[in-house]
Order: sequence, then structure tokens, then C-alpha cells
Amino acid sequence: MADSTPTPEALTQIDLHPPDRDWRDPAVAFRKGTFCYPANPKHLEYLGLANPRKWQPTDADWHLPENWRQIILKGLEERLAKYRSFRLFMDICVRCGACADKCHFYLGSGDPKNMPVLRAELIRSVYRRYFTTAGRLFGPLAGGRELTEQVLKEWFYYFYQCTECRRCSVFCPYGIDTAEVTMIGRELLNLVGCNINWVLEPVANCYRTGNHLGIQPHGFKDSIDFAVDELAEMTGVRVEVPINKKGAEVLFVTPSADYFGTPHYFTLLGYFTLFHEIGLDFTMSAFASEGGNFGLFTSHEMVKRLNAKIYMEARRLGVKWILGGECGHMWRVLHQYMDTMNGPADFLEVPTSPVTGTRFEHARSTKMLHICEFTADLIRHGKLRLDPSRNAHWRVTFHDSCNPSRAMGLLEEPRYILRQVCPSFHEMPENTIREQTFCCGSGSGLGTDENLEMRLRGGFPRANAVRYVHERYGVNLLACICAIDKATLPPLLEYWVPGVEVAGVHELVGNALVMRDEGPRTADLRGTPLAGGEGPTHA
Ligand code: SF4
Ligand code: SF4
Repeated sequence: MADSTPTPEALTQIDLHPPDRDWRDPAVAFRKGTFCYPANPKHLEYLGLANPRKWQPTDADWHLPENWRQIILKGLEERLAKYRSFRLFMDICVRCGACADKCHFYLGSGDPKNMPVLRAELIRSVYRRYFTTAGRLFGPLAGGRELTEQVLKEWFYYFYQCTECRRCSVFCPYGIDTAEVTMIGRELLNLVGCNINWVLEPVANCYRTGNHLGIQPHGFKDSIDFAVDELAEMTGVRVEVPINKKGAEVLFVTPSADYFGTPHYFTLLGYFTLFHEIGLDFTMSAFASEGGNFGLFTSHEMVKRLNAKIYMEARRLGVKWILGGECGHMWRVLHQYMDTMNGPADFLEVPTSPVTGTRFEHARSTKMLHICEFTADLIRHGKLRLDPSRNAHWRVTFHDSCNPSRAMGLLEEPRYILRQVCPSFHEMPENTIREQTFCCGSGSGLGTDENLEMRLRGGFPRANAVRYVHERYGVNLLACICAIDKATLPPLLEYWVPGVEVAGVHELVGNALVMRDEGPRTADLRGTPLAGGEGPTHA
């Protein structure tokens, strides 16, 4: 942590009293630690986005296009016509307040404009002013606000303080999804060149090389070869990881952080042990070398373009179906958008396990199966030899990543796997897991350094629940199935709950899996000596 990071004691002094000033006042103080840096103009140029320039949110003049207001209002009009859900969300909120205290950014900051209802109201008030009769005639009396530069700056601040996690939507009696409002807000901001670097750099990299990190095909191959060598040293088994193999049965796609990031990389090793053990006929692709899709944090058009490459590669390589790794928003894109954007993928087959014969009918449209569904099915059919004592040095809890839990309902499979591969598993409190899970506080492209204070605030409710199981059961490992979580939870826990590490579910599978041809295993996949022997303590 930087020296300027406030102490945990200081951050927990959260003032929940409403401020004196009227909420309609759009003035925002861009305080260091609470906002993200704008995108480098070279990424906008590369992607063909509007208004590339050097600017800072703290500048008085944002160098907007002269007709910026018309651009935004026209963009808003088009989206109201195109997305019926968005129009509905603009009209039906009754301000009941059920969502108000459900956002982690509100809980961690006390800023009322981080209440989901008020976040949406920032754009809804402009909608009322320009697109409803009452708003046109009566303006503020009908809840309308003029679209001023200050309002635009306020949008930038608060739509980049929403992780699009959808927790608020679980509690809204009308099903209003504030994440969708944020997505439209960001899309509108993009029309006038107001975007952040941590989102647009990965998008530009993905366009250029097929993955967020900008890894070239030969670098991708090098990193896979390195993992194969390491695994051989650890287990005595040299696995085979084909790349761009035409005619393989399965295309495996995972987030690019798995190739280099820590602890992501250990999950990659876990996948490879599993695929080797069951003899899966698979291939990876040096072009579809990214499961994540930061287009989701930019615009619908960008989501579509980045998702398409996975399916183009599946077609080019002639695989039967696609297996997806531990990723967050990849699965939201798959479950909520892919089918109408790039699907149905009729040229592929319904995913069917070559080991158990299970046909995964729920994936019949996308033809893409989650690795946890695949592995849980293998375990349930008794196809894996597992030794949970190899994970006895971990006392584990599970963080439901927002997108797999709320956007695809993947709740049971990871838990089932963890209970089979770990002797000690403990749930966090009920209102912080499953559909009600708390976000890591850094999703949707906010996992950068310059806004660390806001991330620590937003991650406070998640960390608080981890602290509960850490103190009560001695939990020392938080398992999760999202690449962003694996990157952002370690610093969050180091700050709020030191002594708890983060791992992917398939790292723990790889530890417990007894491969037929393996040598003596004395350490786990991260090199920690195995303890062995403890009995189960599931709770
Ligand atoms: S819970 Fe739904 S209806 Fe109630 S204030 Fe929030 S968004 Fe509006
Ligand atoms: S989507 Fe998540 S971050 Fe955004 S307002 Fe709702 S609860 Fe907050």
C-alpha cells in the first residue's frame, strides 16, 4: 500500500449523515484515490473512439467536442429507443429505497450518490428533463435536470464508482438493474471521449493481440511451455497443452491473467493436471487467448466484437464445443448477451462430457460450458481420484464472484467441488454470499491503483464477511472463480484481513487430484509443503 493510503481505522469512520447540499447539485470534488485516470489517446485512436486527447478529471476544461450536449442527448434518445429495459428503468423506479444500502460503495463511503437509486437518478433526471412532457414543461419541478458540463463530470465520477455488480437489482422489487444504467452511462460518456485507461487499454490490447495483456502469440506459447515445465517439476508428469490444434474436440478459453498473474497461474496448473488426467482432447488458441471482455465496461458494440473472436476461433479450429475457465464477466457476456449478439452458435455441438457422457443442455445455445460445471460432473460420477488432505493446510471459504453467481446462477458447483477437495470449508454469513454476494469492489475495470481508496472502501463489506470466518473458524484461504477477484482481493484482504490468501477453485482441484502417473507430491501447486492428514471440518 502507498504511504498515502488511509489506515483501516480512518476508513471505517464512515459518515452516513446526508450532506446539507441538495442532491441535484452536480459539483464533484475529484479527490486523489477516488477516481480513475482517463484513457491514453492512443487507445482511443486505435479503437476509432471519439475525441482522443490528453486530459485529466481535475482539469477545469475537459476539452469536450463543441456539440457535446447534442451528442449525448442524441445518444440517449437512440438508446431509449433501442433498449426497452433501459427506458423501463428510467420510468418505473418508485424510490422505495430498498436498494439504497445494498451497494458496497455506499456502505464503504457513505456518499449518498453511491446509493443505486441515486446513481440511476443522475441520468434519470436528465431523461426526465429532455424526454418527458412534464420535464420539458416544468423542469426541476418534475424532477428534471439540465445537462451541464458539471452533470457530465458527475456521471464520470459515479459511473466509474459502480462495479456493475448487480447486487442492488437482487433487492429491487421492480427488478431495476442499475448496472445496466451504469453501462448506458459509460456508453454515453464514450461518445464524447470520457473513458478510463484501465478499461480501454485492455480493450485495445485485445483487438491487437487477442488478450488484455497484449501478449503476442509467441509469448503466449512461451508462457504455456513454462507452465508445462513447472508442472513436470512439481508432479513428475509432463502434460500436453496443444495450441491452435485443428480438429480438437474442445476449445479451452480462459482469462489471460491465468498465464502470468498470481494466484491465477496456480489455477492454470490445476486445469492442466485435470485435462491430462482425463485425457481431454482440447486445444487453446493463441488468438482467442482471452476469456474476459472489457468491452462490457465500454459499450454493447465492443462486447459483441470481442466476444466474436472466441466463436470465430471455434469455427476455424473445427472444435465441437467450448470450455471456459474461471472468469467473471466472460460468463455474464455468455449468459446475457452472446446469444443475441453473435449466436446462436449452430455450427457447434451441445457440450457433452467425453468422460461421463453428460450432455449439458443448458449450454445448447452458447455451446460453452463452465469449467466448474464440467469438473463437478466428473467428481459426481466418480471419475477423479481426490486426496483432500493435500489441501489440509488451507481452511477455505468461497467468495461468489458477482457475474457467475448473479448473472448465471453458478452457486452449487464450486461449493460441491470445494467440499470434495478440501477438508475444511466454511461459509461466510448468508447475506454476503450466493445471489447476495458482495463485490470485490474493483470489478468492471476499476481494479487500478490510482483509485485504491475507493476500492478499499467498496471492498469493505466483502472483507468484513471474510474477517468473520477468519476469526471464527481460522479461515486462511478465500477461493473464487474470477480473474479480477484473484487480482483485486489479495490487496483488499492484506489491508482489511491480513492472513487470508486467495486461490482459484481449480488450484485446489489440482492439489487434490491424484494423477495416475504422478510422482511423489510434497508441495502444493504454489510450492507450499503439504501438511496432510486432518479430518473434515465442513460447516
Ligand atoms: S429498489 Fe428499485 S424501485 Fe426501489 S428505489 Fe431502488 S431502484 Fe427504485
Ligand atoms: S450495480 Fe453494484 S456497484 Fe453498481 S449501484 Fe448496484 S450495487 Fe452498486
